[in-house]
Amino acid sequence: MITVLKPQATDEQRKQLVSWLESQGVTVHVSKGAYQTVLGLVGDVSAIDMDLLKLLDIVEDVKRVTEPYKEANRKFHPEDTVIKVADASVGGGHFAVIAGPCSVESEEQIVEVARRVKAAGATMLRGGAFKPRTSPYAFQGMRAEGLELLSIAKKETGLPLVSEIMNENHLDLFEDVDVIQVGARNMQNFELLKALGHTRKTILLKRGLANTLEELLMSAEYIMAGGNENVILCERGIRTFEHYTRNTLDISAVPALHEMTHLPVIIDPSHSTGRASFVEPMALAAAACGADGLMIEVHNDPQHALCDGAQSLTPDQFDRVMEKVRRVREVLV
Ligand code: PEP
Ligand code: MN
Repeated sequence: MITVLKPQATDEQRKQLVSWLESQGVTVHVSKGAYQTVLGLVGDVSAIDMDLLKLLDIVEDVKRVTEPYKEANRKFHPEDTVIKVADASVGGGHFAVIAGPCSVESEEQIVEVARRVKAAGATMLRGGAFKPRTSPYAFQGMRAEGLELLSIAKKETGLPLVSEIMNENHLDLFEDVDVIQVGARNMQNFELLKALGHTRKTILLKRGLANTLEELLMSAEYIMAGGNENVILCERGIRTFEHYTRNTLDISAVPALHEMTHLPVIIDPSHSTGRASFVEPMALAAAACGADGLMIEVHNDPQHALCDGAQSLTPDQFDRVMEKVRRVREVLV
């Protein structure tokens, strides 16, 4: 971190600031120029409040030279992280496809979809049991019963499970869930992230509706700081002024995050577009730009889905997307 002092800062004021900074555990290198003095702060600067420093009378500017995320930072961990979930792997050249309905609706529905997505080559089954809905009057998910139905589908197909958690008090219910999803709306639910950091479950962390990539990585950092290094990041579209699509898929998040972090990055073309017809082109774009996987909503009867039918693929459509994704991936290697 670099702190530029104002030209009128006296030696006494500078010394006071330096000794305060040193008392915070950082080493301070002082460079005196003809007009200005620059303080170079070295060491763990995470405890230094940049905004507070900027407000001091003698401080002109404060700049970070290293990122505030450490555990997730590629600089300190150059190799790609490969996360194993049962027989599936994601990251470092391993491509995962997570597929299934937005919400679990019945045993027949989830088992049928699980069989079809497995046959098409999906490596994990998704299904929402606790649903974060904008309206309190909309279907809220089957909750604990939904998780039980997912377990049945897991027994039938062997596919590992991905399901969203909304409250840390529900953690006990997620024992049979292999990957716990933190949805876009909870990306900055810091108490939830801390609780998940104390588990050893794989966490699928979705980018918030209006969050930067650095904020996404700071949320991953909350989980990792608790000792849980199993985090998969998911770009699911962000809010922009465009309304033609449900959200705007930030496809450049894939190469950007690959530069910033060693964690695997997957794309959700369903929530990012909101339209079934756009899922295939965006899934192909994701595979082409080096994403580590996809999460796609598939429903046996999209027209009657209780949630997100408009963006859900039928199993037949999913078969075709999987075949094309496979072909794009073959071209890449
Ligand atoms: C979901 O995956 O069903 C979901 C609710 O996603 P998001 O949090 O990205 O809106
Ligand atoms: Mn959904």
